[in-house]
Amino acid sequence: MTSPDQVDAPLDSAEVLTAVPYWTERMYKPGGGQDHLGLGSVVTDRILPRLSPGINVLTIHPRYWSFYAFVLSEFWKRDLPRTKAALRDWYRPLECIYSVACSLCTGPDHRGSPIGTRRIASKVAEAPEGFDPRFDYMDSTMGGYGLYYATVMQSIGLVVLADPRLGLPVDAVTPAGQVVADAFRSAIAGTEYYLNWIDRHDELVPHAVVAEYGDHGCLCNMRQDTAGDRPLLADAFLHQGNPTDAKARRETLRFMCELASQTKGAPVNQASFRRLIYFGADYATDQHTGSTFVPTESVNRTARKWRLYQAREYFNASINEMWRRLSCWGLQRDGDLFPIPMSEVLESIDEIDFSSIAADMEIDLPIGGLSSSSPFEELLAWATSVGEITGQLDDRWELDAPLTEDSIIQWLEYGSTSKDSGPEILAAALTLITFVAARLWAPELALLEPADWFPVTEGGRDRLGIERFLIELRSRVGEGATVGDIAKWLTIDYVISQHEQVSTAKLATTGDTFRFRREAGRLRFFDKDARVGMNDSRFNALATFLFEIGWSGYLYEDEHSLSEEGELMRSTGDLPPTGAFDLSESTTP
Ligand SMILES: [Zn+2]
Repeated sequence: MTSPDQVDAPLDSAEVLTAVPYWTERMYKPGGGQDHLGLGSVVTDRILPRLSPGINVLTIHPRYWSFYAFVLSEFWKRDLPRTKAALRDWYRPLECIYSVACSLCTGPDHRGSPIGTRRIASKVAEAPEGFDPRFDYMDSTMGGYGLYYATVMQSIGLVVLADPRLGLPVDAVTPAGQVVADAFRSAIAGTEYYLNWIDRHDELVPHAVVAEYGDHGCLCNMRQDTAGDRPLLADAFLHQGNPTDAKARRETLRFMCELASQTKGAPVNQASFRRLIYFGADYATDQHTGSTFVPTESVNRTARKWRLYQAREYFNASINEMWRRLSCWGLQRDGDLFPIPMSEVLESIDEIDFSSIAADMEIDLPIGGLSSSSPFEELLAWATSVGEITGQLDDRWELDAPLTEDSIIQWLEYGSTSKDSGPEILAAALTLITFVAARLWAPELALLEPADWFPVTEGGRDRLGIERFLIELRSRVGEGATVGDIAKWLTIDYVISQHEQVSTAKLATTGDTFRFRREAGRLRFFDKDARVGMNDSRFNALATFLFEIGWSGYLYEDEHSLSEEGELMRSTGDLPPTGAFDLSESTTP
């Protein structure tokens, strides 16, 4: 099933990305275009990997960890040449049939789709008598493993990647990976597929054989108590690999269990996840009262980091939207044919207009209004007032306030391409970043727990860190800067210069991505799309993980209460180690 989420469609399956390498998470922005200011990469490369290491946008199904370990293990059991070509020839038929098997699964817990679905779905729909293991289910040589899972499986210590310097010509499972592979094998050991078909790559595998395989080995079957790989995988995720990463995973998984527990009875999708982690609340609907999420003491620091992650998303959204608007504004003035003098670009900023969003949101502007010549301090005070902003880091941040980051994003229809380029858009985007600034205004917030503050500092100079922005903004406001001064500063330094730098850096690899650039005092525009959007928050990956590892129901659905194990995770933050990995100090097969 697909996950209902209008604001950011979560990645239901990874097949749309089959032609790009695994590190492409940073390039993949659902609705987000190409990261023209380099801000999305701060989130995908710096912030999210610290919050949720190993469980990323493209590695959402935990059972793939055991399936791929099994495939490698079966390869090494056989007398096959230890070459990449031989491994590929072994690997592809196994993944192909596995994807078909998962596609045929009709289990009650089945959600999402296996890798390769885009091509396999039509084959499955034809209901043939048998399936060709050599069907070209995806382009990438080493399929979902090569694209998405290999590096994270290595980081958790289940595989070692080929390294000729170590005398390892192809990837192999570690002793820990062997334990996991054995558990997957025992789940499917009795199937006709494993007994008679796994080596036969030149014959059609009968439909019934593949279906039976799916009944035992599907991604969703790990929820069954009989799935021996589940406790092992849970153990691996909670305790294996780099200890800092393992600790971060435990903390985020505990945090997710707490969130699942507090929101049971109402569905959570990515948009509501953002509201829950940032505001501690979601909207009520006709069917559901609005969920709330109040971090307990034990998850408070993790919750704080996720909240600051979301602050970075709003911060990015503000600057990206200013960039999109400028691009659109220039093209509407034929700036691609006749470059526009910078003086005109800056003059246009003085038309910034707050009345439109204020009227639509039914809120009053300050007496005397807000315009380009108003002191920025007035905008800051207004945002603080209409946003009911307390300036504290761990308070409830009011979702029901007259204006919020979330309502500004919705008013902007951020991520859609339909909005135009008027001065009211600039006003809304500037208000959005002002909200973030107002929340984090007090310098002493950084000292509350410095280790939690990294989402604010990440980005630094090159990628526009929030911290750096705040320091500069406080100083400018202290000197009496006006709204127009700040809007021009951000337009020149954060939008135009930043876009020029990022596009210049991309020339060698991605090609020409300029949407505008300065030429002798003028701004020349280029007639190309200017898409923006938030990064995937990894909500879909974490929600799918919690569900398929058997800790909670599916968060997208009303009923998603915790299992006994999930409750143990929530209350203690860990599960007892299985002991199965005690042998796994060595990393060679
Ligand atoms: Zn299934």
